[in-house]
Amino acid sequence: MRNSPAEYLLRIDDLTPGMPASAWPQILTLIHRYQLQPILAIVPDNRDPALGLAAPDPDFWPQMRALQSAGASIGLHGYRHLCAARGWGFVPLHRRNEFVGVPAHLQREWIGQGIGILRAQALEPTVWVAPRHGFDRATLRALHHHGISIVSDGFAPRPHRAHGALWIPQQHWEPRAMPAGLWTICLHPATTTTALLGRLESFLADHHARFTSVPRVLREWPIAQSSVASLAVSERLFALRAYARHHARRLLHPH
Ligand SMILES: [Zn+2]
Repeated sequence: MRNSPAEYLLRIDDLTPGMPASAWPQILTLIHRYQLQPILAIVPDNRDPALGLAAPDPDFWPQMRALQSAGASIGLHGYRHLCAARGWGFVPLHRRNEFVGVPAHLQREWIGQGIGILRAQALEPTVWVAPRHGFDRATLRALHHHGISIVSDGFAPRPHRAHGALWIPQQHWEPRAMPAGLWTICLHPATTTTALLGRLESFLADHHARFTSVPRVLREWPIAQSSVASLAVSERLFALRAYARHHARRLLHPH
């Protein structure tokens, strides 16, 4: 790990033109105030009622384009966010998801269609953000075929290459000050409470200068090839602890 202070990436998930009223306007205000360059994880053709199927907000696509122009990275957040597949992928947090175990030709088609929908809105997705963290080797191959080689996922403490992709880890769901490393904080606007917004606001007041962007990570971080076998024991323990915490929480608070 680099011997410098921690850096943070902000990632906003479940963005769709039919989002219900949520914390998105307040999050957008903070993005503007601190000139953040987050990952915007957009569902290209949302069909998941849980994310909102309201009439499309006419401001949605122009907002995304303006943020892209200001340096945000566009994340392809699956295709329809319909989590009808069952299986454990690379990041085993949820057994039900959209992609794991889906035949390769279908994954390739969904990803191609998703990219096409975003490109039709003049957005260029560069980062894969799997719904419910579910993706497998066929997903990575399909992404590679369509020119996406960056994955925002996993619990490593630093970016690395594995399985033919470049992984930028995503470890936190709320801001937390860390001593070193690269930490992606993922927010879901629909479930971002006023309390969480308050914590984000005060964290940004203190740490906004330590927020980076995907292009800066690619330029500034040394990115080594790694595999599960070559990860340091401490890093494997880090990931195992994260999975254990996640599954313990789900046992206590099933949803
Ligand atoms: Zn999602």
